[in-house]
Amino acid sequence: MNIGYDLDGVVLKLGECINKYILDKYNHVIDVTKVEDYDDFITLIEGCKKGAVHDFSEGDMGHVQRVRPYEHAVDVINKRFSEGHKIYFITARYQEAPTLESLKNLGIMYTDIYFAHADDKYKVIKDLNLDFYIDDRLETLISIYERNIRLVFVIRDQPWNRNKDHPLHFVRVRSLTEYDYLIEKFLEMYRMTID
Ligand SMILES: [Mg+2]
Repeated sequence: MNIGYDLDGVVLKLGECINKYILDKYNHVIDVTKVEDYDDFITLIEGCKKGAVHDFSEGDMGHVQRVRPYEHAVDVINKRFSEGHKIYFITARYQEAPTLESLKNLGIMYTDIYFAHADDKYKVIKDLNLDFYIDDRLETLISIYERNIRLVFVIRDQPWNRNKDHPLHFVRVRSLTEYDYLIEKFLEMYRMTID
């Protein structure tokens, strides 16, 4: 199987990292549970101090490397990789070197990684011929779906993607363990059809 993953908000806890950065630097606490739109996330950070987002993304790259993974994320990805599945990361980050370093330090195994603007991810995903893709930005998933690229669309549940309309067959999960369970179910069905 060709399995795709967004990084931040799916594999890695970017929210936690941004919170710590804003708290350390501006002594301001962000309540991510109140962020109802992905773009509000940015606005909310900017609300604490003009330019804070710019500081975060342009400043010390060390914080990018300090982002921690969600529980069990590394294990479920590495297990699928060791089984021979293709693991692709598609991220809207542009800090390539620190991101690669971070993945290496975390011991995450993968086939390849692509850096693309959130609204351009469909271009990468189309060429990869993915079977599954998970993202926490609903607008990104919809932009792929609207281009008639067919795969299993999975939303990583986050406050900024709740209470929004989306195609009924998008699957919502609360962890990569749930995502992996879904993949396992498809694999079981596939095995049954070739038996
Ligand atoms: Mg994300």
